[in-house]
Amino acid sequence: MIVLKFGGTSMGSAKRMEEVSMLLKRDGPCVVVLSAMAGVTDKLVETGVYFKKGDREAGMNNLQWIRNRFEDTCLELFRLKPSRDTIMLFLEKAFDDIACRVSGEISQETVNWLVVQGEMITSRIFADYLQECGSPSVLLDATGFMRLDEAGEPDLPAIERLLTPMLRLGGDLIYVTQGFVCMNHRGETDNLKRGGSDYSATLIGSAIRAEMIEIWTDIDGMQNNDPREVENTFSIRRLSFDEAAELAYFGAKILHPACVWPAQQFNIPIWLRNTMDPGNPGTMIRSGGERQQITAIAAKDHITAIRIRSGRMLNTYGFLVMVFKVFEDFQTPIDMITTSEVSVSLTIDNDNHLEGIVEALEKYGIVEVDKDQSIICVVGDFLVDRFGCAARILHSLHNIPIRMISYGGSQNNISFLISSADKKRTLNELNTGLFRMTKLPEYAHS
Ligand code: ADP
Ligand code: ASP
Ligand code: MG
Repeated sequence: MIVLKFGGTSMGSAKRMEEVSMLLKRDGPCVVVLSAMAGVTDKLVETGVYFKKGDREAGMNNLQWIRNRFEDTCLELFRLKPSRDTIMLFLEKAFDDIACRVSGEISQETVNWLVVQGEMITSRIFADYLQECGSPSVLLDATGFMRLDEAGEPDLPAIERLLTPMLRLGGDLIYVTQGFVCMNHRGETDNLKRGGSDYSATLIGSAIRAEMIEIWTDIDGMQNNDPREVENTFSIRRLSFDEAAELAYFGAKILHPACVWPAQQFNIPIWLRNTMDPGNPGTMIRSGGERQQITAIAAKDHITAIRIRSGRMLNTYGFLVMVFKVFEDFQTPIDMITTSEVSVSLTIDNDNHLEGIVEALEKYGIVEVDKDQSIICVVGDFLVDRFGCAARILHSLHNIPIRMISYGGSQNNISFLISSADKKRTLNELNTGLFRMTKLPEYAHS
């Protein structure tokens, strides 16, 4: 079986949904994982904020905007009166339910439930539309199988156990389900964080040992650089799982930061494809294969850098353990780390507990904090740096103030920390320096 995931833009209008239905005309059963129509989740997140702070009018206006969007789409999409009437009735009930859920005090549980309603509604519309087109489809509610464990991580054995029997209906069925949506260990509806539909697709793919996971989006696969910041990017045709995981984790928005590991675990290829140009080869992510010297660049924003300076670090052991323990206590992962004899610098992307972390670290030395930083990650094959890649990278950045450099932790990643204000310039300098200028005379190897 294959798993196909379609993102928000691919579901973004009646015309796009029609195009996606054509892409599903193939042999054999498949699982289709859908995001909410583009823009809807942003609006729902904003709506949750309005209701939480008591601005009911703004919240209800947002809900009306979302409702109009779905209704207009359905009026254009459904051609047959019975199916159109059914879906309009469904929308009426869905929005009555939402209004009912947000009418009283708003808990975090309600907010979590609210933000996934875009997926719940989009998937129902699309499944009904497939039926109207004569393509047999079944709608699966993701809360019935997509489970989080107590640590808030996907519980793959439970997902496998719950999902497998649901897919035994036989025939060339299209199983439609929601991306992003899950149920947490308390039995509440929850989500896999923004962009989480990619993660749903790879979790489902690995739970059912799919032959392939196709992620359909609005671009010709993984680009060598962030297309939102750099104009002249190009598609990368092949990536290893490790390279794709690094790029996703370090900000290549085309993939959810954590979505590669489930596929990698069972060696299931991930194929990134463009809904707007289905003939384009996109990017194939699979194990092994030829490595490029430098494959791609990604950037991760909202990074906070913390430096701890302490004379106690000099010639002692155990200092780093104490520092790491603070981050463990506050359940805050560290992204980058560099050390000198008397100081250690590290970065975090979740500053929810920053105050507590700083207070705890101050027991060990002088603490300095820099916010609004970005990690720039260059991915490639840096095994013993045969080709002087590090020198080429640094040469490209001779005009940019670099706050930290991390090299050697992984053989396919060199990352450095800069101020976010310099991000665009940095990505563009690297694009020219690394991808347009193949040999710098002063660093060329013989
Ligand atoms: P979807 O809604 O289909 O999940 P996303 O907006 O989440 O789509 O991801 C696709 C977008 O990711 C692209 O339109 C592009 O702007 C952005 N992007 C950022 N970095 C990259 C990259 N390295 N390669 C491709 N796309 C990228
Ligand atoms: N709709 C969700 C979001 O916008 C999930 C996704 O699109 O992957 O974050
Ligand atoms: Mg996405």
